Amino acid sequence: MGRSLERVTVVGCGTLGVQIAMLACHTGHQVRVYDVRPEAFAQSLSRLRSDLEGRGIQPFIPWEEWEKCKNAIRICPTLEEALEGADLVVEAVPEDISLKQQVFRQIGQLAPAKSIVATNSSSIPVSRLEESSGRPERCLNLHFYMPLLGINMVDVMGGSRTLPDVFASGVQWVRALGCIPLTVKKELLGFCFNRVWRAIKKETLYMWANGYVDFRDVDRAWMIFTGMKMGPFGMMDTVGLDVVYDIEMVYYKDSGDPKDRPPEALKEKIQRGELGVKTGRGFYTYPDPEFLRPEFLDPLPTGSEGR
Ligand code: NAD
Repeated sequence: MGRSLERVTVVGCGTLGVQIAMLACHTGHQVRVYDVRPEAFAQSLSRLRSDLEGRGIQPFIPWEEWEKCKNAIRICPTLEEALEGADLVVEAVPEDISLKQQVFRQIGQLAPAKSIVATNSSSIPVSRLEESSGRPERCLNLHFYMPLLGINMVDVMGGSRTLPDVFASGVQWVRALGCIPLTVKKELLGFCFNRVWRAIKKETLYMWANGYVDFRDVDRAWMIFTGMKMGPFGMMDTVGLDVVYDIEMVYYKDSGDPKDRPPEALKEKIQRGELGVKTGRGFYTYPDPEFLRPEFLDPLPTGSEGR
């Protein structure tokens, strides 16, 4: 049986950090957040809100509750203040192993001894970060997807020395958030579903970057086949193409296999500032991406000779 984790600190308030903080607050936790950019929390939240509203998506937290949570979350000017009394710390800084190790080191020095330290990394096993925290037995992976968009599942994976009680507390906390824990029995790069999603990203990026297909057709096919509201390219835009690139680089550095290297064309998009929803342009343009228009799935639009 795990311990109840009431006081939660989120470090890093980007696309994912704000969603984790909002969800934790909405489910009755006391939440503090910290980001090296003090304006990050408000910025990321308003970007997320306009994206959701633009797509007509009702978030996991109803709009009337949204403002309440936003006001209840304590935005801290220092990491030290953010970590005061924390039962659980969730790190959500960019997907860079040395940055995450540095943040784990700071958390380990400043957080109370009781704190569990989790990483929201999309690919890095916590065993590669745990030593930096100085408390490897209290570390684990808690990988969220897009909880406020309704993707309410979380990969849960222990490190090399995670105590069973710490793992159980993580699973229990995920359930307390109204999410489904996807537990990983032994260490695996990419965890449970994120490894499946990675296979889709790798394949579809390869097909696009090498000119085999129009990325829109991949998304169309995906939407028709699965009934989902967006395809892999729309989803990558939502995640952030810089984040996708960093994740792919983790796989590439791990295997050293050239086939795992993310395509140059993706890097070029990032260099042009085309990061997806967050910069208004990625594979699609926002706030009105063409995959949301009814004609996107029409096989024979008026005046067309077909495809
Ligand atoms: P992001 O770039 O949107 O946000 C990262 C935030 O971390 C920024 O606000 C930045 O200012 C802050 N930051 C940087 N260095 C910091 C430091 N030393 N201390 C405190 N804050 C710092 O990134 P994101 O998309 O939210 O991703 C964060 C993590 O979550 C990554 O590991 C990523 O792989 C993972 N993740 C992302 C997604 C997604 O869809 N974007 C999904 C699941 C997991």
